[in-house]
Amino acid sequence: MQAFYATHFVLPLPPGHRFPMAKYQLLHDRLAHELPAVRMDQAPIANDGELALAHTPAYIEAITQGTLAAPAQREIGFPWSPQMAERARRSVGATVAAARLALGLAAGGVAGIAANLAGGTHHAYADKGAGFCVFNDAAVAAKLMQAEWARQHRQARRPLQVAVIDLDVHQGNGTASIFAGDDSVFTLSLHGQKNFPFRKEASDLDVELPDGCLDAPYLQALELALDELERRFEPGLILFLAGADPFEGDRLGRLSLSYDGLEARDRRVFDWAWQRRIPLALAMAGGYGVNIDDTVQVQMNTYRVALEYWRRWHL
Ligand SMILES: [Zn+2]
Repeated sequence: MQAFYATHFVLPLPPGHRFPMAKYQLLHDRLAHELPAVRMDQAPIANDGELALAHTPAYIEAITQGTLAAPAQREIGFPWSPQMAERARRSVGATVAAARLALGLAAGGVAGIAANLAGGTHHAYADKGAGFCVFNDAAVAAKLMQAEWARQHRQARRPLQVAVIDLDVHQGNGTASIFAGDDSVFTLSLHGQKNFPFRKEASDLDVELPDGCLDAPYLQALELALDELERRFEPGLILFLAGADPFEGDRLGRLSLSYDGLEARDRRVFDWAWQRRIPLALAMAGGYGVNIDDTVQVQMNTYRVALEYWRRWHL
């Protein structure tokens, strides 16, 4: 199974910054040692034209040049640096590359499942970033895959249908905003009702969970959400944001899912996609464990399940 990383582009953050940047390298190293069947390559860079499928030229320019106004930069939560701008582009490039492989738009046929070791930057809007999100990788990937798919399927009557299944504990507000009124992309977000962002957008399907939500009610809510997705939409590609922040040991999550609960969550999504033979690209989204190793453990479990389902595509 192929995965893409942007870990070599670590943001220089001030000491004591609350973003756990080290988690990406830790995940990379544990995958290399424990799951060698996951092949990891450096992510390609997303260019201006690709970013412009989901972002305004003025915003892309401001991020590139470092000319964003100070309040807008604070909203993102990272100080600007050339590395920040490059890393944001590569993180988008990683989800794009994973989606392209999963769908079979790259050479080598349908991979079925491929992954981004980072990404899931769902708080980024067309014209602004927020909450550690600069560019919206899922939004760019959805639009770009629709364009590439259309070139290969000129007779198709409708665009490639893309479902964003966002199980990060925070609402995918940027994604919801970018795809508002676009019926070729279905945005599903399962998130903590009382958690950031405090002004939420309308996804195609929002499921709000109470603080302290345990495994069983979470999994039941996911089941109902997948049923509704099935009734309303027929995806040809799934972008899965497997946030590790619903974990009980997360500093920001406010939910109480166990390792087993999160693994059952992931298994349900991979199985749902597999039963319907829908290609799936995976992005990691948030994870702010009190203990950073817990976040990485949740992500490792996600990769173990992903690999299991990837093998089914390639038997
Ligand atoms: Zn999150």
